[in-house]
Amino acid sequence: MTHQHRPWGYSNEQATSQGAAPDWELHEETLAVRAGLARSGFGETSEAMYLTSGYTYDSAEQAVHSFTDEVDHFVYSRFANPTVSMFEQRLAAIEGAEYCVATGSGMSAMFSAVACLVEAGDHIVAAASMFSSCYVVLSEILPKWGITVEFVKGSDPDVWAKALTKPTKVVFIESPSNPMLDVVDIQMVSDLAHKVGATVIVDNVMASPIMQKPLKHGADVVMYSATKHIDGQGRVLGGAILGSFDYIQGSLNPFIRHTGPTLSAFNAWVLVKSLETLSMRVNRMNESAQEVAEFLSNHPKVASVNYPGLKSHPGFEINKKQMSGGGTTLSFEISGGSEELFKVMDKLKVIDISNNLGDSKSLITHPASTTHRRLDPATRASMGISQSLARLSVGLEHASDLIKDLQQALQ
Ligand SMILES: *Cc1c(COP(=O)(O)O)cnc(C)c1O
Repeated sequence: MTHQHRPWGYSNEQATSQGAAPDWELHEETLAVRAGLARSGFGETSEAMYLTSGYTYDSAEQAVHSFTDEVDHFVYSRFANPTVSMFEQRLAAIEGAEYCVATGSGMSAMFSAVACLVEAGDHIVAAASMFSSCYVVLSEILPKWGITVEFVKGSDPDVWAKALTKPTKVVFIESPSNPMLDVVDIQMVSDLAHKVGATVIVDNVMASPIMQKPLKHGADVVMYSATKHIDGQGRVLGGAILGSFDYIQGSLNPFIRHTGPTLSAFNAWVLVKSLETLSMRVNRMNESAQEVAEFLSNHPKVASVNYPGLKSHPGFEINKKQMSGGGTTLSFEISGGSEELFKVMDKLKVIDISNNLGDSKSLITHPASTTHRRLDPATRASMGISQSLARLSVGLEHASDLIKDLQQALQ
């Protein structure tokens, strides 16, 4: 037993309240509304929010057995909480993963997912183009503890083949990457990684579980910032790690239970309700992002557009193999420098200037001076993040309003 998963099951079990579980495979949309639901004796329709840090026992004996995992009983909300478990089971059902562990932020998910596997002397290989805090963990924090990390160009198969010849503990990839939308072939990298004994961890934040399921393409572990598409309405921070029973029970839980990056029950409640609408939101945002990307790529003041849904994108074919569209986020460069770009951003009337992404509100940011300013200029340049690059997260507004807004701002 695990203290992470209660007897409610997370797929067909408990999907209906009438008792018997459906005897057919439920669709993702159905699981997103039904999976993991654990009703209390009050028969509430909605998921209940269990704001409790501790739990009581019927007897001293039951407490003993709960602590030794002989009876399935919540013991402390750092380990597990009913509302957090509902979120974990629902997300696991959507992802098609055996287990899910929720965390307080995307970064605590990323750090725990990697750190639980490595010790001094171990080696990590990572695709260089990634979210900047993940880069800091891999390039500065883990090396302090004697772990070596090699960064490679994620889109180049030859570079991977060369890097993955020596024993490697972890391979870390983000596809598409933030903010360059570089695409990594998950299956190709996973096959090479497994030959040298590595666990493949995918930061799937940009794609979301709706558009890409890395476990189906050979990856071992998937992590999320639930702050992005999963909440998708700019309210709470959260994270999640998904993988096999062996990974979660053998490596992650012994690490995470004592280091405590727990998701709060309140945030878990917001997130479990968000999962119900995730597919509708992400699919609509993806359709609009495609329209916006096409508009920008034909605009004379736009020098380049990075969006894996455009045929001109170098990763277009690989992306099509592993993701159901280009995604909700794109980046583009305008002719001129950051001064020109800032003028355009300041003129926007609908799209907000903000560094979040995956939100129902369209948000634009200048990565070089905000999300990725922590990187040294050479690293930033090697990732392709120039001063004239903007990242645009396309929200749920009507696509034609977003296009009009960009049009008037670019004029
Ligand atoms: C935002 C983000 C993270 C970190 O998530 P937080 O919830 O902000 O801690 C990690 N990876 C990617 C790709 C992100 O966009």
